[in-house]
Amino acid sequence: MKIIMLGAPGAGKGTQAKRIAEKYTVPHISTGDIFRANIKNGTELGNKAKSYMDQGLLVPDELVVDLVVDRVKQDDCVNGYVFDGFPRTIPQAEALDTALKAINEKIDFAVNVEVPDSNIVDRMSGRRACLNCGATYHLEHIPTKVEGICDVCGSELVLRDDDKPETVLKRLKVYHEQTQPLIDFYKNQGVLVEVDGTKDMAEVFKAIVSVLEQ
Ligand code: ADP
Ligand code: AMP
Repeated sequence: MKIIMLGAPGAGKGTQAKRIAEKYTVPHISTGDIFRANIKNGTELGNKAKSYMDQGLLVPDELVVDLVVDRVKQDDCVNGYVFDGFPRTIPQAEALDTALKAINEKIDFAVNVEVPDSNIVDRMSGRRACLNCGATYHLEHIPTKVEGICDVCGSELVLRDDDKPETVLKRLKVYHEQTQPLIDFYKNQGVLVEVDGTKDMAEVFKAIVSVLEQ
């Protein structure tokens, strides 16, 4: 099962992608997590990506596409994967299509998690992220057992620099300009699934599963 998660930053793509990955035993591929791991490890890719991410801008397509194309060739992707945060531009989507066509594969579902902009700033300012294992929480909606500590690995949680309100507004603008057109792109391919992302986490997941298993 090959799935793409679409939606604004903070819509809940990562939250749902992790659950889908667990239920269907496929890898969760988050380009944002890959960049953050590279930044943490001080790699050349991380240094390049950081300057864009800190400004709320997209990392250039050429730094993203090869990385993803290499990733899907790994053994753990034989039964599919869930992309979270990729593709984010039409050229990325076209490059993915070309790479998949070359190996006789295609995307099965593009799940658009719809949340209005008015909810997004709250979601993002309350998000707390574990930079060690990638787990994500929310101060009110998805609290940890011990405040500020990751339930999964015990590391300290952070407010991502790019989740601060001024950067979130910029990221939303970039989303509407560059990523939202992907909704029509996948609608035209007949693989778009739309879910209401304002519902609670479990309900959103139920709505997604009911479509995947139709
Ligand atoms: P994205 O991957 O789309 O950027 P996340 O999955 O990280 O978004 O979710 C953004 C924030 O909103 C996180 O703090 C997350 O815990 C919280 N969140 C995710 N889904 C829901 C939901 N259905 N209701 C309330 N809060 C949610
Ligand atoms: P995310 O964790 O998905 O919210 O991504 C955080 C940031 O990483 C984004 O704001 C971008 O700067 C960068 N990024 C992640 N995925 C992509 C992508 N597919 N294309 C371009 N930039 C990306």
